[in-house]
Amino acid sequence: MALLEEVKSNFGRLKLFVGGRWLDSASKITQPTFNPAKGEPIGEVPFSLKDEVDQAVTNAEEAFHEWREVPIVERVQCLFRMKYAFEAHLEDLSRINTQNHGKTIEESRGDMRRVIGNIEAAISAAYTLTKGERMDQVAEGIDEGTVKEPLGVFAVVCPFNFPLMIPFWFIPYALAVGCTLVVKPSEITPIPMEWAMKIIESEVKLPSGVINLVHGSREVVENLIAHPSIKGVTFVGSTDGAKNVYRLAGQHGKRALANGGAKNSIVVMPSARLDASIPSITSSFFGNTGQRCLAGANLLAVGDVHEPLVQKFVEAAKGFKLGYGLDPAVDMGPVVSEKAKARILQHVTQGVDDGAKLILDGTDALVKTYPDGYYVGSTIFDDVTADMSVAKSEIFGPVASVIHTATLDDAIETINKGTGYGNAASIFTTIGRDAREFRRRVLAGNVGVNIGVAAPLPFFPFGGMRDSFFGTLHAQIETIDFFTDRKVIIEKW
Ligand code: NAD
Repeated sequence: MALLEEVKSNFGRLKLFVGGRWLDSASKITQPTFNPAKGEPIGEVPFSLKDEVDQAVTNAEEAFHEWREVPIVERVQCLFRMKYAFEAHLEDLSRINTQNHGKTIEESRGDMRRVIGNIEAAISAAYTLTKGERMDQVAEGIDEGTVKEPLGVFAVVCPFNFPLMIPFWFIPYALAVGCTLVVKPSEITPIPMEWAMKIIESEVKLPSGVINLVHGSREVVENLIAHPSIKGVTFVGSTDGAKNVYRLAGQHGKRALANGGAKNSIVVMPSARLDASIPSITSSFFGNTGQRCLAGANLLAVGDVHEPLVQKFVEAAKGFKLGYGLDPAVDMGPVVSEKAKARILQHVTQGVDDGAKLILDGTDALVKTYPDGYYVGSTIFDDVTADMSVAKSEIFGPVASVIHTATLDDAIETINKGTGYGNAASIFTTIGRDAREFRRRVLAGNVGVNIGVAAPLPFFPFGGMRDSFFGTLHAQIETIDFFTDRKVIIEKW
């Protein structure tokens, strides 16, 4: 494909995929979806009506009774077909991801590689982790064992920032164990998932109703959770959304796995090898334009590393080239929407008002070729204190807050007491004792040692704790147990 080539310039009014057919929603409530690099609408999202959501769940429920009976070796063949189809379509899916979300093409390709990695992990798990256990002679003449059974229909609710990757933290595992699904992408970036569904329909050929797609926002999510045939929900998004989903699922007696927001810290010790660490630190803050739940937000400089660290960090951040993510020379795309940009600028203004020192200001960034795009350049505050809003609130944009602490103990305390979030934290050091102290005491579910973005591979759970996660079993590999229940069988003959 030529550089900057778009898969389509407009994707029109999106459809629902229900019971194996593409349907036009009858909904009059719609919302445009944008290419944020250009600030142009490229599609229209209809918010599904309640009876359309009900229809999707009913179809998934009917499909469940047949899908669970398909031998596992045959279900796994569908996952192989999905893997090969997505490998063949990696480039067009990545381009659409960049068109709708704004991230760079290389970031989109990385998302796709993680999609495929999750399918591979689900294939492996299907042959290993879906087995039960058995023990003979637990008492005289009595044998006991367990089988794992698929629970039924699940809803998969997704955030805007990884339109393709995050749905696949769940989809392949649910399909492997014999569950069926209703997927609801973010209403802000729904196009890539619709495109992925078209590929699933034409090349994977799952039985009708096994996977369904609806569009909309909070109301659609609440209708899904309340539907009697839904057995559970996976949610990834803001903490407010996660709490709402977790509470509602509890009220309706459903399973829930809910990932929330984040405010991640990176600690740099005086012992760190600064030059080797800077690329990883910088890309943690500014990669994906800071719109990553594992992105660095607070940079904790311990002791006398502060001055050289800030100088090198600012220097590296200045080198990030802003622009349309389809251009391979671009390091940082726009933020996702005009609203997101306004929110980020408001946080920066608040930081200045609170007395933080703005040492790199990307708020008036302009990309000449795309003057209407939602661009924010790398922005860095120094002299931030833990009580300032820029240190506490999730900004979800390319804004870094440098906090100077005297010791590692102070840094750990700042992280653990500073915010209620617990998604990720990293330390850069060459001293094993400091790294060990940090990983044991820090309240975060994904911990990096000399790694800026501690993103778990698919065959590990995606961690998260405190206000960043509500539930017991985590995304990726652990969902094999989320989508199944153990039945205990005790036998005497
Ligand atoms: P969001 O909460 O606004 O929306 C996420 C999804 O939930 C969307 O599909 C939306 O339609 C729906 N939704 C929104 N409010 C809801 C509510 N009150 N009840 C039920 N459903 C609701 O999140 P977003 O802006 O799309 O995504 C960004 C957020 O997601 C950030 O806070 C980020 O940290 C978080 N995130 C977390 C992880 C993680 O693994 N912890 C991963 C990615 C993103």
